Amino acid sequence: MTDLTLPTLAFPDFQPGSVWLVGAGPGDPGLLTLLALHALRQADHIVYDALVDERILDMANPAAVKEFAGKRGGRPSPAQEDISLRLVELGRQGLRVLRLKAGDPFVFGRGGEEALALVAAGLPFRVVPGITAGLAGPAYAGIPATHRTANQAVILVTGQSAGDGPDWAALAATKAPLILYMAWRGLGGIATALMEGGLAADTAVAVICDATTPRQKVLTSTLARCAQELADSGLAPPAIIVIGTIAELHATLNWLGAASHD
Ligand code: SAH
Repeated sequence: MTDLTLPTLAFPDFQPGSVWLVGAGPGDPGLLTLLALHALRQADHIVYDALVDERILDMANPAAVKEFAGKRGGRPSPAQEDISLRLVELGRQGLRVLRLKAGDPFVFGRGGEEALALVAAGLPFRVVPGITAGLAGPAYAGIPATHRTANQAVILVTGQSAGDGPDWAALAATKAPLILYMAWRGLGGIATALMEGGLAADTAVAVICDATTPRQKVLTSTLARCAQELADSGLAPPAIIVIGTIAELHATLNWLGAASHD
C-alpha cells in the first residue's frame, strides 16, 4: 500500500469535546480530502453512515471506536434526532467525535440538522466538505455537470423528501439538467412528471450506480424508457441519475471504460 503520510500542512486541531461533520466522498478512497484523512487519524469516536466505503474506515486511528448509524439488514436507520443526541452525548464525554457521511455532509446529508443540534447543545463543531456523489458520479461516467454548449445551470435535486416533493414541472421548465439523488424508486413518477412539465420523451438519461467504486455501472436511456429499462437491468442502488443533454456525453467521454448498459 502506498504510504499515506500526510504532508506537513497546518491542519486545525481536532479538540477533545468537539464534533467534526466530515464528508467521506462518493466511494473511491482517493477522493477523500486531506482534511478528512487528518480527522480520521485524530478521532476517538467515529459515527458513520451506510455508503461509507470500508477502505476509508480502515484509514482511521486504530484506537478509534467505530459506530454504525445507518440502515442495515433491512432494519430502519436510527431516527435523525437520536443520531444528533448521540453526537452531543459523545462530545460531552470529551471525545473527538467524527461524524462521517457519504459524499458531502451538507448535500442531502442532514449535516445541517446535526449542526443545529450541536449549536443548541453548545458544542464546538467543524464541517469538512466532501466530494458529493452528484458531481463525482457523473464525472466518473464522463458526464460534465456543466458543458458550455449544453447548459448554464445544473440542478441537484432529491427524489425523496420530508415534505411535499419537488415541483417537477417547474424544474422541467428551467431546461437545466437535473442530477437526482435518492430517486431510484421514484424514477417512473418523476420521469412522467417531467414529461408532463414539457421535457421531451427522448431526453437523455444516465443512471450511475455505485459511482466511483470498482462496481460502477452506467445505464443510458431516455426519459420515456428509463424506469422500465432500469427495472429490467438487474442493476441496484445507490445511483445518481442525470437527466438532460449532458448525459449524452457519456457515450464519448466514458474515460473509465467500465461496463455500460445502453
Ligand atoms: N451526502 C451524500 C448524499 C447522501 S443521500 C453526497 O453528497 O453524495 C444518498 C444518495 O446519494 C443515494 O440515494 C444516491 O442517490 C447517492 N449516492 C451516494 N453515494 C453514491 C454512489 N457511490 N453512487 C451512486 N449514488 C450515490
